Amino acid sequence: MDITVVGGGLAGLTAAIASAERGANVTLLEAHRTLGGRARATEPPYVANEGPHVLYSDGPPFAWLAERDLLPPHLPFPARGLLRAGTRHRGRVGVPPYALLRAASRRRLRAPYDRDFGSWAREELGGEPARVAANMMGVALFDHDPSRLSAAFVWERFLRVTTPGWPAARYLVGGWTSLVERMARRAREMGVRVGTGARVDAVPDTPTIVATSLASARALLGDASLEWESGHTLMVDLGLRRGRDPFIVFDADECGFLERYSLVDRTLAPEGEELVQAQLPVRPGESRAGVTGRLERFLDLSLPGWRERVTWRRDQVARGRTGALDLPGRTWRDRPAVDRGDGVYLAGDSVAAPGLLGEVSFNSAVAAAEEATSRRSVGSV
Ligand SMILES: Cc1cc2nc3c(=O)[nH]c(=O)nc-3n(C[C@H](O)[C@H](O)[C@H](O)COP(=O)(O)OP(=O)(O)OC[C@H]3O[C@@H](n4cnc5c(N)ncnc54)[C@H](O)[C@@H]3O)c2cc1C
Repeated sequence: MDITVVGGGLAGLTAAIASAERGANVTLLEAHRTLGGRARATEPPYVANEGPHVLYSDGPPFAWLAERDLLPPHLPFPARGLLRAGTRHRGRVGVPPYALLRAASRRRLRAPYDRDFGSWAREELGGEPARVAANMMGVALFDHDPSRLSAAFVWERFLRVTTPGWPAARYLVGGWTSLVERMARRAREMGVRVGTGARVDAVPDTPTIVATSLASARALLGDASLEWESGHTLMVDLGLRRGRDPFIVFDADECGFLERYSLVDRTLAPEGEELVQAQLPVRPGESRAGVTGRLERFLDLSLPGWRERVTWRRDQVARGRTGALDLPGRTWRDRPAVDRGDGVYLAGDSVAAPGLLGEVSFNSAVAAAEEATSRRSVGSV
């Protein structure tokens, strides 16, 4: 059977490989000149990932990639990084606040999906642990106020990110482009025809997996119902002359986050320099200058003398590009379904599939490939 995949990011590449494995003749069409979507990174000497930064080794996509020998060289959370981790709390950067440890110790609690995290956590954890846990989750939610989201959604992610034992985060050496290259090579080896540089503006006749952002899928399919809450954040990437910088700073005050990725992977910045990526969620109605000023104050507190050490800088705002956020009363099952009918399937990070951040793109892509290719057996009976 012929299958067309629209979009060549992580979801599209996964859908193409999974469909080809199930015997389909696959054509993958990507609007951009190069594959990867948000998993692209800037060119050396400063290799800054645009979207995904870490792959979680405790999630199904990691196992799916490992089974197929698609994982590029990757590194675990560095031991010396633990010693150089900080948290902004009440305007100062220091060791994790007691309130955070208190929240993380309540692992047996189960949170309801139909209440907001803030009110549920204040009752169960107390005011300060509730505030600190919510704000710290800015690291994975990219939202100015995670308290407003579904309690189950935030709590499940908080438990995952604070899993006891060594952090599951894995860093792909050379940035995420190395994974994209491996997946693209495998797809081509399996006979997938890849077309780049041409935007698809009408749904092809063949069964089609639309593996674009939800906004692009909405336009392509002319379906206004394809909407879901997502994050809105300012990202600042910095090349810095080496100083005494922390590895990670969580932000229990304003939901931001920064990480010095070159501590793990020296190939990301030139000799003698560091690559730091920081983000701070934009508040409703906030100006670009306003959020930039807040993020720079976060950098002032975290990276002493950074302004005099900058060698390279990139600022970007990501809106609707950081994955799905579930509001109270909704779960991933309520997001736009994979099967749209008439041979059209959706994959991406705001689609009805479980997982953390980009894992939703992988999981929905595998589901879309299974559903699209199982049409053949139905038709041929
Ligand atoms: C700041 C930030 C940090 C993040 N951190 C993490 C993290 O640490 N870990 C993690 O797992 N995830 C993370 N994510 C999320 C992750 O980046 C995304 O979930 C994932 O990259 C989405 O992949 P995708 O293939 O679904 O979509 P995309 O990467 O957006 O790919 C869609 C592709 O479709 C193409 N396209 C669109 N319309 C058309 C059309 N009409 N015709 C042809 N092609 C089209 C686009 O050009 C694009 O290449 C982060 C995201 C951001 C923004």
